[in-house]
Amino acid sequence: MPRIRLANVAAAGWSPNGSAFGAGDLTTAESNLFGKLVFGPQEQRKRLPKDVYRALQRTIENSEELDPSIADTVAAAMKDWAMENGATHYTHWFQPLTGITAEKHDSFFNPIGDGTALASFSGKELIKGEPDASSFPTGGLRATFEARGYTAWDPTSPAFLLTNPNGTTLAIPTAFTSWTGEALDTKIPLLRSIDALNKAAVRALKLFGDEAVTRVGCTMGPEQEYFLIDKSYYYQRPDLLNCGRTLFGAKPPKGHELDDHYFGTIPERVLACMLETERELLKLGVPIKTRHNEVAPAQYEIAPVFENVNLGCDHQQLLMTVLKQIAPRYDLVCLLHEKPFAGVNGSGKHNNWSMGTDTGQNLLDPGDTPHDNLQFLFFASAVIKAVDTHQGLLRASVAGAGQDHRLGANEAPPAIISIFLGSELEKVFEAIAKGKVHVGPSGEFMGLGTPVLPPLPKDPGDRNRTSPFAFTGNKFEFRALGSSMSPSLPNTVLNTIVAEAIDALSEDLEAAIKVTKGNVDEAVTKVVGDNYKAHKRIVFGGDGYSEAWHKEAAKRKLLNLKTTPDALPQLIEESTISVFSNYGVLNERELHSRYEVLLEQAETAADIARTMLLPATLRYLEMIDDAGIDALDDEVRPLVEEFVAAIQHLAKVNLDHPEDTMEEAIYMRDVILPAMAETRRLADTLERLTPDDLWPLPKYSEMLFIK
Ligand code: ADP
Ligand code: MG
Repeated sequence: MPRIRLANVAAAGWSPNGSAFGAGDLTTAESNLFGKLVFGPQEQRKRLPKDVYRALQRTIENSEELDPSIADTVAAAMKDWAMENGATHYTHWFQPLTGITAEKHDSFFNPIGDGTALASFSGKELIKGEPDASSFPTGGLRATFEARGYTAWDPTSPAFLLTNPNGTTLAIPTAFTSWTGEALDTKIPLLRSIDALNKAAVRALKLFGDEAVTRVGCTMGPEQEYFLIDKSYYYQRPDLLNCGRTLFGAKPPKGHELDDHYFGTIPERVLACMLETERELLKLGVPIKTRHNEVAPAQYEIAPVFENVNLGCDHQQLLMTVLKQIAPRYDLVCLLHEKPFAGVNGSGKHNNWSMGTDTGQNLLDPGDTPHDNLQFLFFASAVIKAVDTHQGLLRASVAGAGQDHRLGANEAPPAIISIFLGSELEKVFEAIAKGKVHVGPSGEFMGLGTPVLPPLPKDPGDRNRTSPFAFTGNKFEFRALGSSMSPSLPNTVLNTIVAEAIDALSEDLEAAIKVTKGNVDEAVTKVVGDNYKAHKRIVFGGDGYSEAWHKEAAKRKLLNLKTTPDALPQLIEESTISVFSNYGVLNERELHSRYEVLLEQAETAADIARTMLLPATLRYLEMIDDAGIDALDDEVRPLVEEFVAAIQHLAKVNLDHPEDTMEEAIYMRDVILPAMAETRRLADTLERLTPDDLWPLPKYSEMLFIK
């Protein structure tokens, strides 16, 4: 049997190894796993003196600075809890600009001179760390002589335990800054943006007479798509191993795309893997709720319940880590790449986003009273204004090499940013903009043919899967994120641009209230109407995949930034710099790192083609020669010759790419990617002709359909 077929047999030979999961009913205290590995408020209350506990909660709730005098007490309690749960080490867990997480572990144990060791963990060690972090991307912020970076404890995201069969480590979520205080990570800009939104929204709520609210936070709930394939295929494919995606592979035979895979029965091995993954995530306090099959074969989705955006982003990183960590226990590998298989649906991450007050209101939830509805329309208006004004920035916030194979194709939201409101809500905005709705003396709506506008739709009713930014009842869903991305930057952008829009609309509202002589409802109606007129070009309810929309969007002068090199310059646009003037969110080095990925892919493609695929085709040519069948020779030889030329061309262009970041980006798009595509086209054609036992890579039909 050929090597690869042996792998198929191994893959199909899986048997469940699940064992000590414990009780399935999580409602009883002893079997409830949720947060078991987290030093959360419950554990803190149990272990901390009352005054220390209260001071810590105040810090967390109001994002105040921590009183350093309590740090030692918190650190000692945290260490005791961690050690009782088997921890021997601690780490400051942070998120540098690489988009993934970083850790450096230190032992709790210190030698005390008499040959023994003592476990200790001080407040100082809790609050501040100094990893030797000189090799993280910094965007030119740090010169080498001042290469020191500090990690600083983020008490708003609780510490947790990283478990390993051979030991446990206490992980402390931290921010990562330079010694002069500039952000070197994705958390600091996110925290700043949360603060900006808080200030703007609290100010606006005061105009609506709400004096009770003291804080407004943003909430996010991600939906993560991913692939699971058998481990043996993965290790036979250097492209998957090095780049996370296949650089070669003919499409599976037609009709093989099983449509019933979507929401279909979850294969047993996959479900077993999901169950363990979810258990681990629940222990880490990640509130996993939903699982199902996705559109492509071997593609699935996992979604937690929404949380505040800082915790949500930390948990999203943990979710990706745990997905990858658990899969091998079932001889599976989890692929988070945006486009692991050409011609097969790629993976994204939907980012559900809203704003909520400390009094429990969701500001994007239409209310039950006209007053609440007006307030909702005001905040929804701010989102419309923000997305229209900064459409390029939003697009750039989700740019990346993996995304270029997906965004704008007929499977993912288009690269043109637009907003779907749902037909009911769109009608309401239209009517207000046309002045057809007035607000009566006691706050009720007049007009629209009825004396009182019915309560706004609670559920938008219609759904639109093709929209990149959709209102879905009580939140907006930004659907253009890539599956492997950190959600921090897109959420930082959202929070910041919406804060800016709320501030601008608050100013308009203050001015309008003067004109209406104190009638707030009438003033809001005016502001909402004017804003809609100014920004309605961004609102689109039709088919975002259609050719007609591309034409219409061009007429509306909406941006259509198809690829990463098109999108990234938006990060240094005037409007972006002004909205981020307070934070250093973007930088050259970060841009650069996105292209290094592509360079590595081109090199891997050239390697695989030359050392694995070409030899297989040469052996086939030899066989044809031996058989002496001219017709076959005429068919295959020219293809192999073209293949050789394509490989040589790819290797050559990959050597001489420009140094300058932007030029390099364009070179990638216009030279490297086409060279990769041509090499692939020939390889995939030859895959269909070359004898099966000579072809060295597992095929799409095997990877995607053997579960
Ligand atoms: P779908 O979009 O697939 O139909 P749902 O409507 O059930 O899925 O919800 C999707 C996600 O939206 C979930 O992760 C949920 O937690 C999140 N979500 C719900 N309410 C909010 C909110 N106020 N803020 C942020 N996310 C939310
Ligand atoms: Mg969704």
